[in-house]
Amino acid sequence: MAKKQFKAESKRLLDLMINSIYTHREIFLREIISNASDAIDKLSYLALTDDKVGLNREDFRIRVSLDKDARTITVSDNGIGMTKEEMEENLGVIAHSGSFKFKSEHETPEDVDIIGQFGVGFYSAFMVSDKVTVISKAYGAEQAYMWESTGADGYTVTECQKDTVGTDIIMHIKPDTQEEHYGEFLETWRIRELIKKYSDYVRFPIRMDIEHTEYVETEETDENGNKKTEPVTHVQEETVNSMVPIWQRSKADATDEKCVAFYKERFHDTQDPVAVIRVNAEGLTSYRALLFIPSKAPYDFYSRDYKPGLALYSSGVMIMENCADLLPECFRFVRGVVDSPDLSLNISREILQHDRQLKVIAGNLENKVKAELLRLMTADPEKYDTFWAAFGRQIKYGIVGEYGMKKELLKDLLKFPSSNSDKLTSLKDYVGRMPESQKYIYYAAADSLHTAAGLPQNEQVRAKGYELLYFVEDIDEFVAQMLFSYEEKEIRSVSAGDLGLETEEERREQEETAGRSQELLAFLKETLKDDVTDVKLSNALVSSAVCLSYEGEISLEMERYFRQMPGDAGEKIKARHVLELNPSHQVFAALTAAFGQDKDRAAKIARVLCDQAKLLAGLPVDDLAAYSEAVCTLI
Ligand code: ADP
Repeated sequence: MAKKQFKAESKRLLDLMINSIYTHREIFLREIISNASDAIDKLSYLALTDDKVGLNREDFRIRVSLDKDARTITVSDNGIGMTKEEMEENLGVIAHSGSFKFKSEHETPEDVDIIGQFGVGFYSAFMVSDKVTVISKAYGAEQAYMWESTGADGYTVTECQKDTVGTDIIMHIKPDTQEEHYGEFLETWRIRELIKKYSDYVRFPIRMDIEHTEYVETEETDENGNKKTEPVTHVQEETVNSMVPIWQRSKADATDEKCVAFYKERFHDTQDPVAVIRVNAEGLTSYRALLFIPSKAPYDFYSRDYKPGLALYSSGVMIMENCADLLPECFRFVRGVVDSPDLSLNISREILQHDRQLKVIAGNLENKVKAELLRLMTADPEKYDTFWAAFGRQIKYGIVGEYGMKKELLKDLLKFPSSNSDKLTSLKDYVGRMPESQKYIYYAAADSLHTAAGLPQNEQVRAKGYELLYFVEDIDEFVAQMLFSYEEKEIRSVSAGDLGLETEEERREQEETAGRSQELLAFLKETLKDDVTDVKLSNALVSSAVCLSYEGEISLEMERYFRQMPGDAGEKIKARHVLELNPSHQVFAALTAAFGQDKDRAAKIARVLCDQAKLLAGLPVDDLAAYSEAVCTLI
């Protein structure tokens, strides 16, 4: 029969598995058992509402059997099974293909830490087997099918005989070599040890035949007249795992290490989470929760494919895989499980949404997550920054979204780059460092740290010894606008005109100069009326001649943001630009002189200065050729 080929990426992965020098190949059993448990979860969930399943919760089990002579390990489950199509779909491609990427065409097994890259799943069977046979009958199907593969050369799917619904995974263990003793996986003690180590909390019984030896008395007597004994072995099927889910155990038992291992396996992450949160609530609503804050965003996190939510259990029985109502949108990165005996088992999705108990739990969890993040922020800033790099954007979206409903919850979690040091700062720490004379929280916004730190307007703020936050993400200014202030300190852009920096005296001086330059300013305003709404003298500048600021709600950064958006938002939403001139700069003197002698030349200087201000603000110049020509003429 013709063999079907694996999809290209899958084939390469398979090659890596087969030739794996990976020392942790023992995890194959965990992966196979975890699949069996998932399949049972699915059928037991169906059984809650569908009598036709004909199985009770006690009937579900996973069996692991060893055959030393045939050199096989068989893992059987009475879960939901697979149809022919599902076999082809699920076993012919690599799992989570989106998260697994070969870095180059030429990677060898030694280059790739496969397990380190993603949860390996079914294919890990090939780390210990030279052939894998899968026999499965799907729930509701008449016909059973057999999938078989020796690895790299493809697979076959044929009809076969199987009476009961479920799946048998038969792993044909590789022959032993000088270096590798695969035979150890055919030893009961070894497999039992692996189940204990990796799959102890699986909530269905994992059954194995265990040999017991008893010494029974015989009729014969020894020289002392005592009856002789002889060993008698008998085999008994036993449950090897304790079945207590990890979240139901005491903290002493469910150590951080065990919880982290559970997290990685269950939620397919290769990295340790930054935080493990245990909740054991008793009272009006009793529940246990085990939550994790991942250290990196899954590849699909910011896409529609990502399914937020926590797994919901009622006394160890899963009622929902992803219950989104348990978490606010802003904490959608949190993974974990919630188990409450108070929830009814066959509760429907719609009812769940209005469930009062669920709302109480969700409210509590929201506070727990925030508290843990705040704790991390001070106790382990490095870890917090890892979290922030992965999910800071989500927190910012959370502040801006839902009309600012969550801003109180989230504002303390914000961190920004600042002029204080090369580390990120929280708003609380920023305010803590503010000298008494400082009225506002200042920020400089641009599309890169370099541009933000180099804005001409910063100089005056820095000269006063005040700290600046740097906003480099397009959402940052929307966040500032939503918050408006933090601890009663208004948050102001250095590009927003009044910075509250001048003393009375400076202000009067400025007004006098402005009075003297009134005619010039009117001329500039007229000349540049297509580019800017106003021209002003500024005190915010020290060494620069000009800068661009804005009036009103729309900032320069927002303008840039909208310009990048598809559609005509960029045409409609524009900042009201203001050109600010430094009256103590030589260029201003030159401009004043030209205005007295040669109006054309003055207009040219004005244009160049205006374009220069735009460039410094990170905005494009409309007519670069004209700009360049003007610069040359003036030189
Ligand atoms: P993952 O379990 O992470 O999705 P795997 O490679 O381990 O990836 O498995 C791929 C898919 O094959 C599973 O998602 C499931 O649909 C199917 N599968 C594997 N083992 C079983 C089983 N014992 N019963 C039913 N379906 C299974």
